[in-house]
Amino acid sequence: MRLILLGPPGAGKGTQAQRLVSKHGIVQLSTGDMLRAAVKAGSPVGLRAKAIMERGELVPDEVVVAIIADRIGQADAKSGFVLDGFPRTGPQAEALDKLLAERGLQLDAVIELKVDEGILLKRIETRVAETAARGETVRADDKPEVLKGRLDTYRTQTAPLIDYYGKKGTLKSVDGMAPIDEVTAALDRILSPAGAGSPKGGG
Ligand code: ADP
Repeated sequence: MRLILLGPPGAGKGTQAQRLVSKHGIVQLSTGDMLRAAVKAGSPVGLRAKAIMERGELVPDEVVVAIIADRIGQADAKSGFVLDGFPRTGPQAEALDKLLAERGLQLDAVIELKVDEGILLKRIETRVAETAARGETVRADDKPEVLKGRLDTYRTQTAPLIDYYGKKGTLKSVDGMAPIDEVTAALDRILSPAGAGSPKGGG
């Protein structure tokens, strides 16, 4: 199974991706996590990405495309993957199409988590407060000023992909504001063999 989860920061892509991993035996490919690991390791990619990420801007397309090209070729990704945080721009989506076509692979679904931006800001503020309360380090890009920029970036650069995949006919939408278990159930319906042919968002 090969999937993309689309949605703004804080929409719950990571949480749902982890559940899909346990349920379907696929791997989660989060470019955000991979970039943060690169920054931590101080690798050349990490050195290049660090300041960009702290400003809440996008890392250049060729950097993330190279990371994904390498990662989907690895053995553990053979049984499938859920992409979380990639693609984020039109050129990334086109590069992904090409990568998959070269390997004779197809996407099973692109799933949009639909959310209300106002509520989203509150959600991320809660995530920040909880992280700090646990004594863990808060992500530099979760600061309110940076976060607003990330939402703007999503709106201008990533949201157009909803239309891109809509036209291809691979797009499904779920209500990302529903409780976590309900979102999971909606994803299950989309991904179950019986749900595959049902109308968008149906069930
Ligand atoms: P979120 O979805 O919460 O905004 P991520 O963890 O997915 O955060 O990404 C964090 C940061 O990593 C982004 O703000 C961006 O700087 C960088 N990044 C992650 N994925 C991509 C991508 N596909 N293209 C460009 N930059 C990316």
